[in-house]
Amino acid sequence: MKMKETATEAKLMDENIQGTALEGNEERGDRKLYIESYGCQMNFSDSEIVASILAKEGFGTTRNVEEADLVLLNTCSIRDKAEQTVRKRLSSFNKLKQERPDMKIGVLGCMAERLKDKFLDEEKLVDLVVGPDAYRDLPNLIEKVDGGRKAVNVLLSKEETYADVSPVRIDSNGVSAFVSITRGCDNMCTFCVVPFTRGRERSRNPQTILAEVRELQARGFKEITLLGQNVDSYLWYGGGLKKDFEKASETAKASAVNFAGLLDMVALAVPEMRIRFSTSNPQDMTDEVLHAIARHDNICNYIHLPVQSGSSRILKEMNRGHNREEYFALIDRLRKIIPDCGISHDMIAGFPTETEEDHKETLSLMEYVRYDFGYMFYYSERPNTFAARKMEDDVDMETKKRRLNEIIALQQEHSLQRNQEHIGRVEEILIEGDSKRSDQDWKGRNTQNTMVVFPKTGDHKPGDFVKVKITDCTTATLFGEMVQD
Ligand code: SAM
Repeated sequence: MKMKETATEAKLMDENIQGTALEGNEERGDRKLYIESYGCQMNFSDSEIVASILAKEGFGTTRNVEEADLVLLNTCSIRDKAEQTVRKRLSSFNKLKQERPDMKIGVLGCMAERLKDKFLDEEKLVDLVVGPDAYRDLPNLIEKVDGGRKAVNVLLSKEETYADVSPVRIDSNGVSAFVSITRGCDNMCTFCVVPFTRGRERSRNPQTILAEVRELQARGFKEITLLGQNVDSYLWYGGGLKKDFEKASETAKASAVNFAGLLDMVALAVPEMRIRFSTSNPQDMTDEVLHAIARHDNICNYIHLPVQSGSSRILKEMNRGHNREEYFALIDRLRKIIPDCGISHDMIAGFPTETEEDHKETLSLMEYVRYDFGYMFYYSERPNTFAARKMEDDVDMETKKRRLNEIIALQQEHSLQRNQEHIGRVEEILIEGDSKRSDQDWKGRNTQNTMVVFPKTGDHKPGDFVKVKITDCTTATLFGEMVQD
């Protein structure tokens, strides 16, 4: 075995990129934009849309906040900790703002939407507050701020999908890119703030998705991830909210495209590219989608399938739309239709009323599925959610943390077992770049989305597909050697 990862490494995978600033393209503009992103992949993708909108206004991005004319934080509200991180980051700008009073500071994304103009009262150095559906208004808002006023736009939209905005891929490795396909969420999970901060669910025109994907292919990208809070619920019927589908004309309904249809369209449009997607909600994942994944070699065998709890009672309290047995039945069908599929999860420990029995059911559900990896959290009460309004946050912090640690420890065991199953296999890896620890090694992913590290041999570059024989592993990484085809 190679060096052992820390217990939290698996759960923090995405947290490695929290607060990442978009890389510079200074030559493009006369004013400098510094933009940092927090939270889910959707936020990182939105920052690329914002950079694109502002590039047209003469803003080039910089990674050096000291020289920025405009500093934007694209924020996350999903847990209290995420909000505290942003607050701390904002206060770190105090000194800079004193030194450079002309520098403007804006807050985008979910915290902006949740707090609205209260943000301006609470954080005096903030000039600009913009919700996730209002980015097209940024040029007007910036003009207002330039005139010495504060500006807020937190209107949520029924239609906005930024379908025609071509995101600036300035922070990209040139190999993988996100493509947003839905916005908002209609699920109303009782713990979740997303429906309040990102509005109702709407899908993006598939033709604009295909155009973006083809453009990425033409620019040399090799992998796309179709993004949405609940991608399986994708439904294009000419525009508008998902909930209004029933009111659509018969013609619109007959020509509607669902997620399985979209997967088919994208897979056939760019057969040389790898296709991933995130996030799937169990109650919306159909067998039609599973068959689409199985049918197309270029759709990766990997599904992120958050479950949140293993107890049917807690799932009901969470309004998840499925119970434990239904989830098992889905896992069984998934394993049958796509035998070699990587599966990951999100889990919440200590939701209100969770008993030791419920927690044991979570552990036993994990034993049944044996996930490849997971993102695990303890419950954080979010203002205005159903759980905050109607339920008492009654599991004490010590218990929440202990249960979370048990969940993480079990996941570590499973990740290691899952990874060990790859040893001896030859797998196709898409090279993403130098490994974190050495420029003598490449890193890339297999179809199941596990990171693979292997020595550089021959004449290869990021974006190449290579065959690697897996020889060793840790809980988070596979190691191997390149072999000839
Ligand atoms: N749309 C996906 C879903 O519903 O499964 C992902 C939503 S969220 C952006 C990502 C994860 O954060 C959730 O799957 C959940 O595990 C976690 N999460 C959301 N609200 C939370 C809360 N109030 N406390 C702790 N974790 C939370």
